[in-house]
Amino acid sequence: MRENNWILILDFDSTIIKSESLDLLSGIVLDKDKDKVAKLQKIKRLTEQGMNGIIPFQDSLDQRLQSIAITKEDIQLLNEILVDLITPSFIQNRKWLMKNSDRVYIFSGGFKETILPVAEIFKIKSNHVFANTFIYSDIGEVTGICKKNPFSRSGGKVEKARELNFNGEIIMVGDGNTDAEMKNLNQNVNFIAFTENIYRDSVVKKADVVAESFNDVINFIQHA
Ligand SMILES: [Mg+2]
Repeated sequence: MRENNWILILDFDSTIIKSESLDLLSGIVLDKDKDKVAKLQKIKRLTEQGMNGIIPFQDSLDQRLQSIAITKEDIQLLNEILVDLITPSFIQNRKWLMKNSDRVYIFSGGFKETILPVAEIFKIKSNHVFANTFIYSDIGEVTGICKKNPFSRSGGKVEKARELNFNGEIIMVGDGNTDAEMKNLNQNVNFIAFTENIYRDSVVKKADVVAESFNDVINFIQHA
């Protein structure tokens, strides 16, 4: 059993939920677009390139946001479907997450307003959720994201962890390159590659531990 001085930082997209929220949001936005299939393929490709670290995260995100015109209604629709897309092993371990919620944080390159309703299901505090934030026009269209927010760029998760000045052990769980980057923070970080939804070779190679489900994460915390 490890000492009591640990915190757990969870990624959101393809970790707590089964897929990428911006891909899902793009599907909603492009629902009636005649080029929907081609445009979605392009967006998915940009997502993958960002997650695998082939292009910088900020380029991946900027190019995806430029491809679609998102409205507040689209985000509302996304929030309605996200609760049904939670990763099965997170649902199974909801009680454990609720019990340990004081130690649980979410760091995501996704969007805070779509993460909060899911975080609430696990009783993860809203002030433990760190993610990108949309900027809206007067008529409720997304015009971009807040660039002052560290999550809008590569290395954002490390930057935020440094700012929060956690002491003790950090256990970072995620499927993507931006999660693996957390190893750059200091020696107290254990990176767990989460592969229940997607297995990325380039990310697994950088991992201390590989978790096929959230059960493996709990085992690591309780026994390692
Ligand atoms: Mg992810």
